[in-house]
Amino acid sequence: MTHWKEILQNSVNSPTELARHFDFDCNVLEATNASFPMRINTYYLSLIRSVNDPLWKQAVPSPLEINDSICIPDPLAEEDLSPVPNLVHKYPDRVLLLVASECAMYCRFCTRKRKVGTPKMAITEKSIEEGIRYIRENPEIREVLISGGDPLMLSDKKLDSLLGRIRAIPSVEVIRIGTRMPCTLPMRITKELAAIFAKHHPLYINTHFNHPDELTKEAALACTTLANAGIPLGCQTVLLKGVNDNAAILKKLFLGLLRIRVKPYYLFQGDLTKGTNHFRTHSSTGIKIMRELIGNISGMAVPTFALDAPGGKGKIPLTPDYILSCGDELLFHNYRGKFCSYPENGDSL
Ligand SMILES: *Cc1c(COP(=O)(O)O)cnc(C)c1O
Ligand code: SF4
Repeated sequence: MTHWKEILQNSVNSPTELARHFDFDCNVLEATNASFPMRINTYYLSLIRSVNDPLWKQAVPSPLEINDSICIPDPLAEEDLSPVPNLVHKYPDRVLLLVASECAMYCRFCTRKRKVGTPKMAITEKSIEEGIRYIRENPEIREVLISGGDPLMLSDKKLDSLLGRIRAIPSVEVIRIGTRMPCTLPMRITKELAAIFAKHHPLYINTHFNHPDELTKEAALACTTLANAGIPLGCQTVLLKGVNDNAAILKKLFLGLLRIRVKPYYLFQGDLTKGTNHFRTHSSTGIKIMRELIGNISGMAVPTFALDAPGGKGKIPLTPDYILSCGDELLFHNYRGKFCSYPENGDSL
């Protein structure tokens, strides 16, 4: 198997280079590439079947990125919620620690598009150390989410040291890593890496698949390797117009994830991130999709559809409404639209 670093080194970094693999007009795309970097490693490139297919749309710049007049650079107000650089403290008991600025591929819909893969994302040993000190000094923090960029861009040695320092803080109960590598560069998940993670349990990994075409045998092997190291795996999918915005595709994705031992965790409504407006669906699209999934497939395969509220107000579940009225009796529809009732109080029967 080719080493992950080599696959990364051979990445396609510009529309002109991509034109060697696909037949399309790359000139319009060159200008777009300048606003947010492009990187498609040779593994993910091999999964793209044709121009404008769902994987292409995730990886290749679109002229629509620079014509986005609606969205804003930092919709989740992450910079305002950072007590120290590269640490976001939004919820009472958990923080997000950003430890890498690069990724194995730059997703066009990225929420941190304003800085990921650019010099604006200044992550240093010092910023990481400051983040760890903040966590140590704030014992209400029970859980540390390690993200980026993609944390798995760090070397095994750096990851081991980072995890060890976080694990040494007595108030930290759970470590959670957010990484797209099992999807975008599954060769990164080696047995050695999984063994390092296993030293720092309880450790959870949330990965990120958006389309069933990403569920390859390589991805399955990566997830198996992590699961065999005792790591519970979740998936955070983003609802993307023209990529996965229908129930049939998501059903296939979520059931496929379960088969490779990944539990769908969140399905995210698109954030208001500048340069991503063309991917956004109306919130009713996602709610309608959820209605088609809930009850019809295993509850294990159904994620929570959530909106990350603008201004850093937190994630809000958007759930189809089944309740018709509540009082002495709860009146509701079931997943098939059938009318049901449930008496609240035995005495009133
Ligand atoms: C999403 C997020 C979390 C984690 O939220 P969960 O609902 O626990 O998955 C934590 N901190 C920040 C800043 C986040 O954006
Ligand atoms: S892997 Fe994650 S952080 Fe990196 S570009 Fe994609 S969405 Fe953004």
